Amino acid sequence: MAKDVPIIIIGGGLGGLTTALALARRGYAVRVLEGAPEFGAIGFGIQFGPNVFHALDRIGVSAAVLEKADSPPAVLMIDALNGKEVTRVATGSPAFRARFKYPYIIIHRIDLHNVLLDACRRDPLITLVGDAMVTRFEESSDGVTATSEDGRSFQGTLLVGADGIRSQTRAQLLNDGAPLPNGFMGFRTIVPMETVTADVQRDIVALWGGPGFHMVHYPLRHGTLFNIVAVFRRSAHSERSDVAAYRAELEHTYRNAHPTMKALLAMLDLGRRQAVGDRDPVRHWHKGRVVLLGDAAHPTLQSLAQGACMAIEDGVCLADCIAGASGDYEAAFRRFEGARSLRTARVTLESRYIWDVYHSDGIVREVYSQLLGERSETDTFQCLAWLYDGFRLPDIHHRR
Ligand SMILES: Cc1cc2nc3c(=O)[nH]c(=O)nc-3n(C[C@H](O)[C@H](O)[C@H](O)COP(=O)(O)OP(=O)(O)OC[C@H]3O[C@@H](n4cnc5c(N)ncnc54)[C@H](O)[C@@H]3O)c2cc1C
Repeated sequence: MAKDVPIIIIGGGLGGLTTALALARRGYAVRVLEGAPEFGAIGFGIQFGPNVFHALDRIGVSAAVLEKADSPPAVLMIDALNGKEVTRVATGSPAFRARFKYPYIIIHRIDLHNVLLDACRRDPLITLVGDAMVTRFEESSDGVTATSEDGRSFQGTLLVGADGIRSQTRAQLLNDGAPLPNGFMGFRTIVPMETVTADVQRDIVALWGGPGFHMVHYPLRHGTLFNIVAVFRRSAHSERSDVAAYRAELEHTYRNAHPTMKALLAMLDLGRRQAVGDRDPVRHWHKGRVVLLGDAAHPTLQSLAQGACMAIEDGVCLADCIAGASGDYEAAFRRFEGARSLRTARVTLESRYIWDVYHSDGIVREVYSQLLGERSETDTFQCLAWLYDGFRLPDIHHRR
């Protein structure tokens, strides 16, 4: 397979840009087609477990990411009804660093995106094409052609669909319907730290779980910004979707919540919202010269904060598989699926489980609180080890 005929990547999100960098580091020319007019991210926060650094190291951006990031002293789960701590992961402790080698971080998505974009722009093997919303692809015996909605054609040897949870590439490749909404709605807000009036601990990641709702908050950009995600279960009869209707519904859902929750609720921007959903895991994400990764392949609920980490791990793994397969791209894609499907499926399924824990009610809630409250630090680290230790790259040229 000629390395100078580009591999096409659809989508310039975290998965697409990582894949571009990882392939270019292996000597492949890459063309990234992004549907938005500009490459970039929506301006909220993101958390990364230590596992992501195994992949970021491989594409040479860990130091640049760390410069923009903060490492919270702890991730706390708090009971949203009575304000009591349920459990914690001491992410800033020496024991955490000793166990997982890398830090747990929080970072502004724009800063993270810019690190990857700058690295892509510096690499002569990567071409970034904005305003290229791909509507279809066609495969031939020696390549694949992607066509954008304005009629441009882009040819490559292979095509990587990194176009997110509503992937057009997946729709054409697998034709397996839309993602599964789980009945919840999420709102994200970011405000200057000095405007925060709620009585909250400002340096940690806090997750307040309540029956049918949860909130996550943490600082960004070295404590100058405050990021809030608020989620609630929509009632079946509620179809109206203007801001006033959402405000009324949220206030009703959070009526028994701790006063701090109500203070945070008052700070929310309800103009920007997102239905929450995922997909049931599948084993295969490729056909012929086309393969999916990231949210296009295995979208997950955000409860483990791992969707982007998985997309980034995918990108590095896929590049290794392609480089190690001497042109046998079907073998490369099979090896990629073999290396990634179980791990990403576990993330999806554990995220659903944790989602249920956060939102539980009554005696179920009490049982979960007891279970989590009994955990020692060693137990907690052990539960996270499968995830935070990273994953084993397939046996090609690289072993961890
Ligand atoms: C509220 C919330 C909080 C989250 N928090 C975390 C967290 O803390 N940690 C974490 O690891 N993950 C988190 N995630 C998940 C994470 O955001 C996603 O898993 C991650 O962004 C997936 O990356 P991706 O590159 O696969 O897809 P995306 O980020 O969706 O990127 C897809 C790109 O493709 C482009 N595109 C789409 N269609 C086309 C097309 N037809 N043609 C060309 N371009 C196209 C899009 O414009 C976009 O740029 C969170 C998600 C949510 C909703």
